[in-house]
Amino acid sequence: MSAVETNTHLDLGNSLAKHLLPLSVVIGCLIGLLFPVVFCVLDYHGLTLEAGFYSQLAAHELEQMPVEAPDPSQKHSYRIFQEYSHLTLNNKISSIKVYDDRGAELDNYGYTSSEAVAVWNRWAPYGASRVSGNKHDFARVEVRLSQRSLLIKTALTALAAGCFGWLLAFCAYRYPIRIVRQMDQEVQLLIDDLKDATDESGRLRTSAQASEKRFRDLVAGLDAIVWEADPDQRRYCFVSHQAERLLGVAVEEWHRGEDFFITQVHPDDRQRVTAAYRAMLERDDSCQIEYRRCSADGSVVWLRDTFRLVQQDGTSKHLWGVMVDVTQRIRGEEALLEANQELSSTVGKLRRSNREVSALYEMGGLFQLCRSLDEVYQIVVSTSEKFFPNDSGSLFILNQADNVLEKIVEWGETPLEQCMTFQTESCLALLSGRPHMSAGDGTEFHCPNMARISGCTYLCVPLIAQGQTLGLYRQYHFAVQPETNDEGSSDISHRQRLVVAMTEHISLAIANMKLRETLHAQSIRDPLTSLFNRRYLDDAMLREIAQAERKEYPLGVMMIDIDHFKLFNDTYGHAAGDMLLVTFANEMTGFFREYDQVCRYGGEEFLCIIPDMELETVRQRAETLRKLASKLRVHHLGLSLGQVTISVGIAMYPQHGSTRDELVRAADAALYRAKHNGRNRVMVAEGGEFVKERLAG
Ligand code: GH3
Ligand code: MG
Ligand code: MG
Repeated sequence: MSAVETNTHLDLGNSLAKHLLPLSVVIGCLIGLLFPVVFCVLDYHGLTLEAGFYSQLAAHELEQMPVEAPDPSQKHSYRIFQEYSHLTLNNKISSIKVYDDRGAELDNYGYTSSEAVAVWNRWAPYGASRVSGNKHDFARVEVRLSQRSLLIKTALTALAAGCFGWLLAFCAYRYPIRIVRQMDQEVQLLIDDLKDATDESGRLRTSAQASEKRFRDLVAGLDAIVWEADPDQRRYCFVSHQAERLLGVAVEEWHRGEDFFITQVHPDDRQRVTAAYRAMLERDDSCQIEYRRCSADGSVVWLRDTFRLVQQDGTSKHLWGVMVDVTQRIRGEEALLEANQELSSTVGKLRRSNREVSALYEMGGLFQLCRSLDEVYQIVVSTSEKFFPNDSGSLFILNQADNVLEKIVEWGETPLEQCMTFQTESCLALLSGRPHMSAGDGTEFHCPNMARISGCTYLCVPLIAQGQTLGLYRQYHFAVQPETNDEGSSDISHRQRLVVAMTEHISLAIANMKLRETLHAQSIRDPLTSLFNRRYLDDAMLREIAQAERKEYPLGVMMIDIDHFKLFNDTYGHAAGDMLLVTFANEMTGFFREYDQVCRYGGEEFLCIIPDMELETVRQRAETLRKLASKLRVHHLGLSLGQVTISVGIAMYPQHGSTRDELVRAADAALYRAKHNGRNRVMVAEGGEFVKERLAG
């Protein structure tokens, strides 16, 4: 719309006046000047013509005119006289002449003015019939007025005509101007209104243009794609040019593409985007979603798309949306998430390692508290179940005498077909001295002593300490699912490392315990016969007496001495004497019960503690032993040595003594009596005997 001239002033009235003024002057002049002239001429000649007309009428009609008096019906003559009758009143007629049709003057009455007036007055009532009363053939009657009257009449007529002309000119000048000026004012009002409306429209248009420019500048300056779409046609109606820069897809392509919410959306995100779009349509609400789009060069761009339904002009609804490139933020979040996961994994591994180290440390502490190998084995079981709750396993200890691995303990659901013992030669771990693990898929070198079990892998770790093989730690893993740790990561080698670390502790614990047991055995056993020594006896006697007292059963004590052992030594040598001692000790070990305790009291003397056995039975057992000893044959250096006998003294708790020393002394006294009575016999202590015997001795 073009701009309207704001200073427009309509002045058509003045313009018209300006143009009409000369015209009006001309018209006024023409009318005011010409009219008097014309009127003068016409006035003068008019009389003549009128009279002539009369005469002409008379020429044709006189015959019919009445003679005496004019007939008022003869309007021509009557009119003539009617019209000019007033002249007679003013005495203005100067002459009256009659002409024939050839123009010859028929009669010139030559009246003076007064006479002419008289004639006229006389004729006037009758008209021309008087004239024609003479039967002259005249054609024209000329009546002339007097000059003065004519001049006055002409001047008055001219003046009137002039005034009329000027009045007419004035009216012709003023009236259109007034009309036009009124129209001019109305039109001016309309123009003013139109101008106001135009100004308002211009301001609105300017404001709209400014708003549109600001909007376009804003959209152009945004680092986002502003778009509008028609949900019915599923097309983009408007897409800002950032779309081309961000995604490399021309705006025209966006407009052409159908299924606008699917086009170029990453296939993995299409279902999610479609669901969000439909949910937004159902809710008639806004929606914000982040998804990936494929740019023209094939790269993936993350967009945060925020859109809502907008109703325009009460018609169909359109979608307005803004897409923002959030690729960097997503990449950053992904990197951060990855770093967090890695950190969590590392922390998890550290925690797990810490727990494992703590558990290993705890296991090592428990091993320190162990007093026997059995306790060590139980700790191995509990720790293995704690570390590997889903696994099972076995602990084998090497029997060096037979070179066989014997299963000591097991835990979990161990495979049924595993053997209790196997030769060390069939164990790959022991042969290689390193851990051996099966993959469970049959591709590995399988241990001969292991059956192939579907879905089960095993790990064998040799127990080696101080260069000495102690046994084998075997762990079974039923890998139904990929192995995972607490943090969810697969880590078989970690399990292997942990098992190896455990076995190192186990190996050391077993070795230490064996060493401790060896030292303990050496401290309580006689090195020659391996029987308990006297030191052990002192403690064992106290324990057994206390237990017999607590359980109220009898306790027997045998003091055994080989007869004439000095002679034997002297006869066969000290080594032969040692052999005799060992042979007799083994015989006693096999002879007595498991819970009887046999010890070497010193030299060729032995003491046996026999709990929960009556005196008579003890005596019979001693008698049996004596007979066995007498049948004992000792071979040394290929020679069969001589027969030996033993003497036995028996004392019973509580009847022969209630303390360790009393019992030992009573048994010793009984033995003394057996010796004294000839040896190779069994003697039972008597009440208070040991005191008497010792005092007597
Ligand atoms: P009796 O019948 O009275 O018991 O006479 P005996 O000779 O057996 O007893 P005696 O106390 O006189 O001699 C004990 C001998 O045992 C003296 C000692 O040399 C010998 N003997 C002690 N300990 C050992 C040992 O460990 N080995 C050997 N071969 N002989 C030992
Ligand atoms: Mg002796
Ligand atoms: Mg002796």
